[in-house]
This record gives sequence, structure tokens and C-alpha cells, in this order.
Amino acid sequence: MIENAVVDGELVVVRARASAKRAACPACGTTSGRVHSRYVRRFADTAVAGRPVVIELQVRRFRCRDRACRQATFAEQVDGLTFRHGRRSTGLQTVLQQVAVMLAGRADSRLANALAVRASWSTLLRLIRRMPEPEVHTPRVLGVDEFARRKAQLRHDTGGHRHAPSHRSTARPGHGDGGRLARRPPRRRGDLP
Ligand SMILES: [Zn+2]
Repeated sequence: MIENAVVDGELVVVRARASAKRAACPACGTTSGRVHSRYVRRFADTAVAGRPVVIELQVRRFRCRDRACRQATFAEQVDGLTFRHGRRSTGLQTVLQQVAVMLAGRADSRLANALAVRASWSTLLRLIRRMPEPEVHTPRVLGVDEFARRKAQLRHDTGGHRHAPSHRSTARPGHGDGGRLARRPPRRRGDLP
């Protein structure tokens, strides 16, 4: 729940507090409404009208109701806004991760500056290292060899048109393309186009 937003120098400061009555313990999942204490978290959010935004969020620390839980108290998190130990909002963290990936080791943090976000190059690199590994999917796009093989097969099946000299190389009369491809030496490192 936003209480107010003020312009403070070059910053926009948004003061807010969470309004949920209960929060789930991150260790055991038990929800609790027993407030232990309150404090203010300050973190950066995505810029508004070119001005950096700082959110001052009043958060509560709850007591876990499960006496056997190793986490006696825990701070509430706001979905889509905060994450544990984060000094930035979830949204700003995502934006910076994308910036870091785009710049990947060859530029400085000028783009981040253009977004009115203060982030050094070392910060961006740290963000990349913390990102989870992307899932590897089987590629659905045909490679060049596979494309040439299928094209030659199609030409063979349909009687073939071999008027253009450049086409001849992909479908030699009397030789299956599989044989030609099989004779090709394996591609070595450094041969990539
Ligand atoms: Zn717990």
C-alpha cells in the first residue's frame, strides 16, 4: 500500500507498507500474523520519468508459529516487489539482468545510466553470475547440413532440376548425399563460420 511519493532532489521516494495480514515463513511455510517488529527497508526501483526511484517500504518481522522451526522470526516479502536481502526491487533486478546479458563483457554501464539506474560494471557482472542457467531445449531450426540434405532429397524425389551449377553440388548423380556427408571430415573447433 503506497502512502506517498515525493521528489527528493533527483530521486523519487515512494513510501509504502505491506498490507497483508499474514506472511508465510520461508523455512517451514507456516503462515503467521504475529508481528515481532517493524522496520523500514530502502531499495531502488525502476526509474519514473527519467528519475531514479527509491522505495521506503515498512516491513514487518513475524514470529513463526511452529516452535520446532529453525526460523524463529522472519521478514515479510512482497510478491513481485521484494526478495530476500535484495537492495533492488524484483522488477529493477530483472531489468538490470537483461542489461548485463546484452552488454556481456564488452561495454560499460552507460545503458544502465541511461535507465537512471546506478550500477557499476562489476555489479552487472555479478548479476549475470547469479542468474540461473538457462534450460537447454532441442533446437527446432534445421542446421545448414540438414537443410541441404533435405533439399537434395526433395529434388531427387521430384525428378530434379539441375540447371543452375550451384545446385549441382548438393545433389551429385550416382552418389547419395549421405555418402558425401559421411566422407566430410568432422568439423573442428575454429572452423565455425
Ligand atoms: Zn517457520
